Amino acid sequence: MAQLTDDCFAFGGALVGVATALDDLLGRLAPVTQAEELPLRRALGRFLAADVTSDRAVPPHDNSAVDGYCVYFDDLDPRGEVRLPVAGRAAAGHPLPAPQPRGTAVRIFTGAPMPRGADGGPGPDTVLMQEDCRIDADRVVIPRGIKRGANRRKAGEDVVAGARILAAGRRLRAQDLGLAASIGRTSLSVRQPLRAAVFSTGDEIREPGIPLPEGCVYDANRTTLVALLEGMGCRVTDLGILADEPSAVRQALAAAASGHDLIMTSGGVSGGEEDHVRGAVESLGTLHFWRLAIKPGRPVALGQVDRVPFFGLPGNPVAAMVTFLSLARPLVLRLAGSTEPAPRTFPVRADFAYAKKAGRREFVRVRLEADEGGGWKARKFARDGAGILSSMVEADGIVSLPEDLVDLVPGAAVDFLPFAEAGL
Ligand code: AMP
Ligand code: MG
Repeated sequence: MAQLTDDCFAFGGALVGVATALDDLLGRLAPVTQAEELPLRRALGRFLAADVTSDRAVPPHDNSAVDGYCVYFDDLDPRGEVRLPVAGRAAAGHPLPAPQPRGTAVRIFTGAPMPRGADGGPGPDTVLMQEDCRIDADRVVIPRGIKRGANRRKAGEDVVAGARILAAGRRLRAQDLGLAASIGRTSLSVRQPLRAAVFSTGDEIREPGIPLPEGCVYDANRTTLVALLEGMGCRVTDLGILADEPSAVRQALAAAASGHDLIMTSGGVSGGEEDHVRGAVESLGTLHFWRLAIKPGRPVALGQVDRVPFFGLPGNPVAAMVTFLSLARPLVLRLAGSTEPAPRTFPVRADFAYAKKAGRREFVRVRLEADEGGGWKARKFARDGAGILSSMVEADGIVSLPEDLVDLVPGAAVDFLPFAEAGL
């Protein structure tokens, strides 16, 4: 387990591009979770802690890909039909016990090992689908035209002995677990889940389910952030809503710092005089306001309570999500032991004009529609305030407009980031 430095989020204060900030910050972080061995059944969604190398080939033997007849290709006639006696039967799990003599065919079924060759020589190498053959008394009639090696699956065609089949840092999916099982593994070394504490602050923020006093709003962000973190495999402690009261916030943060690998909140860190989170974090550790050149955004507060990373996201629900996706998510993934590549973007056509401020990256919520040319066009939402959470619900993803762009014209190519790429 790595130890973070005392002030790993220190920041000079100037406006910084999100890619630069990310590069810089990722370089300062290391995985903080320990490895544990888990049965395959319990490893879904965990980050692999060590490479998995196969000590065997899969499949272990050459075998038939179809139900049919297995022959020596050299016994066939390229100019016409051949009639071969059927000598033997090989089914999956029931290999032919003896070598197959030349000049014969074997009735074979999918997955059955290819028979051995006569006199220790090469065995039959070709399988005909039963639909392509005819039975005539005790013989099978093989048509002309089959290729040497047809319908034979080679030993090791899936996994070669000695191959690395899964790389450390990968998030385990169903097919990854299946592949591990296919080489005979019953367990894997995975990272323990990152333990995250999440809370909200603000005198106007109230718990859903209770009547809403005048001037207040329900807490949307905590539910979103808990779900985002759990979706990434974190084990989340929900600390609820902390009152805008310095000693309460301080106490809660100090308590959260033991037993958690990160603390995350939204709102209350913009530096206004009602924002008590800032003072509380600073009194327990360090806090830096990273002024990201993005919209929607506002500064993201990054700090440490003891040595536990603290993420203070903006309060506006869309800004909280966008800063989570563009900055917090990759940092959390690094702490959790992930080496997954960044979410991929895909080029689509903009179906809107957009006047943009130079020098910052802007994220525009869009819905994709098929365009006339067989590609996709991105439709922007009319309402794009940082508090319009319903637009995130309706969107398929976001278009990322680069720093140097000022005037987007309809039809221009833009980078589309599907929410699904970021696990949303
Ligand atoms: P702040 O960053 O505290 O200045 O908050 C900015 C805006 O986001 C304000 O309108 C807050 O009411 C709103 N906000 C802050 N926290 C939350 C939350 N947990 N859920 C929904 N809205 C919030
Ligand atoms: Mg506030």
